[in-house]
Amino acid sequence: MASLLDYKCPNCGGNLVFDAVAGALVCDNCGSRYDPGQFQAVYQAGRPQAQAPAGADSASRAEGSTWPTGFGQYTCPSCGAAVVAEATAAAGSCPYCRSPVVMTAQVAGELAPDLVVPFKTTRDQAVEALRKLYLNKRLLPKVFAAQNFVDEVKGVYVPFWLFDFDTEIHERYIMRDVSRRRHGSTEHITTREYAAERAGRARFMGIPVDGSTNMPDPIMESVEPFDLSQSVLFRPSYLSGFLAERYDVDSNQAHARAHDRLTKSAGTLFRDTVTGHQTIKPAGSSVTVTKMAVHYALLPVWMLTTIWRDQRFTFAMNGQTGRLIGDLPLDRQAYWRWLGLLFSVSAVVAGGLAALAVAL
Ligand SMILES: [Zn+2]
Ligand SMILES: [Zn+2]
Repeated sequence: MASLLDYKCPNCGGNLVFDAVAGALVCDNCGSRYDPGQFQAVYQAGRPQAQAPAGADSASRAEGSTWPTGFGQYTCPSCGAAVVAEATAAAGSCPYCRSPVVMTAQVAGELAPDLVVPFKTTRDQAVEALRKLYLNKRLLPKVFAAQNFVDEVKGVYVPFWLFDFDTEIHERYIMRDVSRRRHGSTEHITTREYAAERAGRARFMGIPVDGSTNMPDPIMESVEPFDLSQSVLFRPSYLSGFLAERYDVDSNQAHARAHDRLTKSAGTLFRDTVTGHQTIKPAGSSVTVTKMAVHYALLPVWMLTTIWRDQRFTFAMNGQTGRLIGDLPLDRQAYWRWLGLLFSVSAVVAGGLAALAVAL
């Protein structure tokens, strides 16, 4: 059943949004603060959850509905307007009254996340981080840095699968030492080859795999890591005031990618324990998974987009750590000027050395 939950202040009826700095739900009208866990209980006791008309969600849309597949229709609990959202959307805001809303059906039952890492950084901090990135880029076109080019800033909870693996790892290495000895006109070259094996058990916790096809995997993997020790049990109220997606890549599909990442990091786990030779080469590894667990988590990401000369640039900032990743346009002219400058500097240094050599 499609339903929307909006979080209203019990004190004044204002909108409650999750505040990253306070780590609490804060009323945008009177400033009252509520613990996301406690608030839910207060809310459920005080005010029934608003429900959209039966058959209005994407899975069972009303007969004759004109919404294309992949979208769901909801009724805003605040203003009563019909809200249309992507079927994978789990939180957003009413386009008419701006109330933050959570699509509860997208985060309940089978779709309920186990964990959430709440936002620790604010929208202003995300914009400021991008501005600083512009300032530090030597090759950035001046016009880009001078004007405010941030077109859109969105705080998104991205669905991730977190895999835990208990493993048995077996690695093999080939080591080689070469020594040379001269005997008159003859040179004796001795090559010694050794083999080493390493075996052990290792546990890998929380290998993340992006569970949303809307989010580009390379961007998501570059904003990692998230500190999962700061994750909390999921409550829908954490999503209030943000956008959220539910997974559309299930844990079975995500497993292959997690396993791939596991073998890559496990394959050289014991590498540092093989020492004392001129060359050390891995000669094979096997990783056997003895136990696996998977958790569904929502992780916080700021998505910033900017359009410059009809080109779209996307940046992503880890909403927990503030790590910012993205493409920047390259000013070709500035690049060549900079390269030219580097060359002339090194030419002066080389000239100086030559003069010194003559003087000696
Ligand atoms: Zn209030
Ligand atoms: Zn509304």
